[in-house]
Amino acid sequence: MTQRVGIITSGGDAPGMNAAIRASAMLVRASGGEIIGFKDGYEGLIENEWERLDMSDVDDIERQGGTILGSARCPEFHERAGRRRAREVLDELEVDGLLVIGGNGSLTGLDKLLNDPDKQIDPPSAIGIPASIDNDLGWTGICIGVDTAMNTIVEACDKIGDTARAFDRTFLVEVMGRECGYLAMTSGIAAGAETVLFPESNANEEQLVDKVVRAAKRAAARQDRPKGALVVKAEGCDVPTDRLKELVDSRLDEELDDAVPDIETRVTVLGHVVRGGRPSAFDRLVASRLANAAVEGLFNGHTDKMTAWLHPHPFPEGVAVQSSIDPYCWLVDLDEVLEETERIRKGESPLTKWRVDVFNQIEDVLAS
Ligand code: ADP
Repeated sequence: MTQRVGIITSGGDAPGMNAAIRASAMLVRASGGEIIGFKDGYEGLIENEWERLDMSDVDDIERQGGTILGSARCPEFHERAGRRRAREVLDELEVDGLLVIGGNGSLTGLDKLLNDPDKQIDPPSAIGIPASIDNDLGWTGICIGVDTAMNTIVEACDKIGDTARAFDRTFLVEVMGRECGYLAMTSGIAAGAETVLFPESNANEEQLVDKVVRAAKRAAARQDRPKGALVVKAEGCDVPTDRLKELVDSRLDEELDDAVPDIETRVTVLGHVVRGGRPSAFDRLVASRLANAAVEGLFNGHTDKMTAWLHPHPFPEGVAVQSSIDPYCWLVDLDEVLEETERIRKGESPLTKWRVDVFNQIEDVLAS
């Protein structure tokens, strides 16, 4: 029976991590166990820096952005010696269950911690909880942080849209998303953008410029509505946003005619604003339920898994079990999660194709 659970938040922070910490702490304590929080991700595991989480420590944290435990990139954990030190610390502290809240890198680190050949020290049971505003993790319908990030983008786009319409300008709004354009696609739809640029479309520079020019000209040609246009662009597209603006401006200059007036373009890069802020109600809910399923999984003897939220595609045979307490949550083999994450990042997953197909169908409506 798991008695002492350790918890860390690692890698890029995501709104909702605190709700996952709080739910985990409450559930472990309700089951008579003890929970300790390591500081700054894997760094705290290696440096033996932790504190016991009591109810007073997690009171009301579900409404705070960021993570009360801190997060860090920890290069030592990439080395086997660093992971060995982490195992020793966990062993000395008699931690028999570990929860890691984080993204692809953090879960890769966890998989290695659990599977490094090391005959002397057994690792504890461990379960990952997916947190990534990019929604780029395999076999989970959603990750902690995505919904808040989407809401932040849509709110910013609504504000930018007001000025775009007032001045009949075309705004290029860059949002986070290096390999995965999920945030750009979904917030573009929700914000009513004229068009969205995302890496999975594999569009080259010329095609991206063309898309923006067409959207700007279409908006400018409207007779009965404001002529401003909103273009949402994922940062991971092949062409940097400033260069895109230059290329679009010069194309618009060349193509200027009587039917379409002079079109001004502007760039707004939302950057880290998208990562912060109070988590949305949905993120708090998802985080709490994924944590709930993770703690339950640990207590039921599961290890080397990630908790996942309902996925649009069926899981491959034998890699996932449904949570015994929440039908929306699953426990999926970590190595399968990491393989599918790789496919998503390379644009090779059927999920990516499905997302792009759905988006393309909706985009025709956006463009009308
Ligand atoms: P995220 O979890 O948001 O993807 P990172 O990629 O920065 O964030 O990873 C967070 C931490 O996880 C890293 O600083 C490192 O300590 C650990 N980590 C990442 N990749 C690996 C790896 N390949 N092997 C071991 N540890 C890793």
